[in-house]
Amino acid sequence: MTGILDGKALAAKIQAELTDEVKSLSDRYGRPPGLAVLMVGDNPASAAYVRNKEQACARVGIASFGKHFSADATQAELEQTIQSLNEDDRVDGILVQLPLPDHLDAVALLNQINPDKDADGLHPVNLGRLVRGEPGLQSCTPAGSMRLLQEHGISAKGKQAVVVGRSILVGKPIALMLLAEDATVTIAHSRTPDLSAVTRSADILVAAVGRPNLITPEMVKPGAVVVDVGINRVTHEATGKSRLVGDVDYEAVKAVAGWITPVPGGIGPMTVTMLLHNTVWSYRQRL
Ligand code: NAP
Repeated sequence: MTGILDGKALAAKIQAELTDEVKSLSDRYGRPPGLAVLMVGDNPASAAYVRNKEQACARVGIASFGKHFSADATQAELEQTIQSLNEDDRVDGILVQLPLPDHLDAVALLNQINPDKDADGLHPVNLGRLVRGEPGLQSCTPAGSMRLLQEHGISAKGKQAVVVGRSILVGKPIALMLLAEDATVTIAHSRTPDLSAVTRSADILVAAVGRPNLITPEMVKPGAVVVDVGINRVTHEATGKSRLVGDVDYEAVKAVAGWITPVPGGIGPMTVTMLLHNTVWSYRQRL
């Protein structure tokens, strides 16, 4: 029978542990960990993600120092805000919600965040630490995916892992994390010929693309572990109702896979949880 990698349940368990940890840290050191989420403009998906992150902070007792800028905010305005958050001792984590409006230079802003407060693990220093195998803040979605595998006793050691997608946010860091766990890793992308032949070789298959139903059952080795990072909103033509799906044709692939993550309820809740985890980790490092 196929095992379901239930990110929602694991996220609830980790958040309960973090709540206790935050309480004892706050009692001992006189302040809670703090996270600042910066959002620019009114992209509804981003607004929902930011709300979700701030609600999760409130649940575990992390203080929020978020700021919401109008869509015409300037680069200088954001840089000044990041600078003052870098210097603010109440703030342990800073995150810039992406995507940003086109007139802003996202990379320059991410690089300006103090690497020790880089809650999203996207600063070159933290990505460099990941490449070198040194401890540091790790990108939340890949770290959450790895934690979910670990929780279910799924080891990557000696396995063939295929990651579809090569973004800095997901594909590249998760490939490095799987490599660090002694998997033999292949990264596939939009220019990979015969994607099916590549994905069929995977004992662990990670889809991080952003295309609904890209991964069909014929592309999956029987018994493989399938991690679906994709989040896509699709609208049912007849009813006009929309729902979230991943990159994997879930029901059909579930019949073939050994383990699979659902969407929603798989990697999404783990991502938010790792953000909280990173904020508490930074707090401890900065003490
Ligand atoms: P991205 O930056 O757009 O990268 C997508 C990657 O997929 C690229 O490397 C691209 O290849 C590759 N790709 C596109 N079409 C392909 C195809 N037909 N076959 C093979 N590879 C293809 O996206 P991202 O930021 O990594 O996010 C990926 C997905 O994960 C999105 O659905 C996003 O919403 C979701 N996501 C979820 C969470 C979560 O919490 N669950 C967090 C972050 C992201 P090229 O490099 O060649 O263009």
